[in-house]
Amino acid sequence: MIIKNASVLNEEGVLERKHIVVQDGVISKIQDAAEAVEEAGEIVEAEGKLLIPGLIDMHVHLREPGFEHKETIETGARSAAKGGFTTIACMPNTRPVTDSAEIVQLVKDKAREAGLVKVLPYAAITKNELGRELTDFAALKEAGAIGFTDDGVGVQSAQMMKDAMKLAKELDMPVIAHCEDNSLVEGAPVAEGTFADKHGLKGIPNESEAIHVGRDILLSEATGVHYHVCHVSTEQSVRLIRQAKQIGIKVTAEVCPHHLLLSEEDIPGMDANWKMNPPLRSRRDVEACIEGLLDGTLDIIVTDHAPHSEEEKAKGMQLAPFGIVGFETAFPLLYTAFVAPGKWDLSLLVQRMTADPARVFRLNTGSLTVGAPADLTLIDLNEEKEVDPATFASKGHNTPFTGWKLKGWPVKTWVDGRAVWSEA
Ligand SMILES: [Zn+2]
Repeated sequence: MIIKNASVLNEEGVLERKHIVVQDGVISKIQDAAEAVEEAGEIVEAEGKLLIPGLIDMHVHLREPGFEHKETIETGARSAAKGGFTTIACMPNTRPVTDSAEIVQLVKDKAREAGLVKVLPYAAITKNELGRELTDFAALKEAGAIGFTDDGVGVQSAQMMKDAMKLAKELDMPVIAHCEDNSLVEGAPVAEGTFADKHGLKGIPNESEAIHVGRDILLSEATGVHYHVCHVSTEQSVRLIRQAKQIGIKVTAEVCPHHLLLSEEDIPGMDANWKMNPPLRSRRDVEACIEGLLDGTLDIIVTDHAPHSEEEKAKGMQLAPFGIVGFETAFPLLYTAFVAPGKWDLSLLVQRMTADPARVFRLNTGSLTVGAPADLTLIDLNEEKEVDPATFASKGHNTPFTGWKLKGWPVKTWVDGRAVWSEA
């Protein structure tokens, strides 16, 4: 296959017109568009479109096994492909929890049957994510888990977390943490702030996240493990991670598009499509997350794609489950908000969604170079479209971004040179 006349970012972040030749699932040649190209195999004309490495999302919920009414591995993988993602890492808070080699294998089998994007399973730190007993890390690694996390809940016991980090360090595996101290949360549905006050709701304080970040940084220092912080949302967490990196502690971190775009003041009313965990925080926290992403304190962007059914989200702000979908809006949202108005370089956005996650998690993808897997995404930077959940490939339609007018929509996605999504 030859993708002709694509706009490709060079090492300086400047766009150049290139022909990309793909053979046996691998990028075999990158040619200057001025050069004649051998017209053999399938030709894809990409004139005027941006070609980037396939996006990587290291924090997603595919809901299978156990919650197939919200999403399946197949519908989740299709939604990812439509959003321009070619590699996704799925969280273990399914039913049963991914705390055994059998469930890791099941996730891998279902992903292979779906035959869409690359699905990397995380395994739980504790059995059933109850925080009481560690899982069998060696067996889970052997089965193909890429890291350990109890995402959905924080590991409440420092001793349990320390034991987990020691074991993960021995196996050269990362520990990925949902940071939340339950004693500070107590059933609050939104962050502390003006919205909670106005509606008489209990608020989630920033410390509930940052206390775990601080604790785990110290435990990471003590054990030497690669510690990765999930969905950073507070100024305090950014500050702690920045300091830890400065003194050489092996910590990395991620941030979600909604925590870069929305604050609690933006919540329009008691609509649970604005309810997620961590919650939308203050404008000051949003600014701190943006600054952290720009200076590299926050290494990567993830969606925390968290589909729920409409019935579940209709239960209202207090009772509805936390979470919003993310795959199909992530790139256009960030492109439109930050790159199009000239606040961020295009190369920064692309790097935080491709090369950086590949570096942090040591993945053999995320770059547009000869010899790399042909995991590729073609993007139309010009056409403006409204976010319409009815068009989502995901089963989940729970998004706060309905009606937003965006540019930067993925139009075609390839995994190992195979088209897994094509617009129209
Ligand atoms: Zn989480």
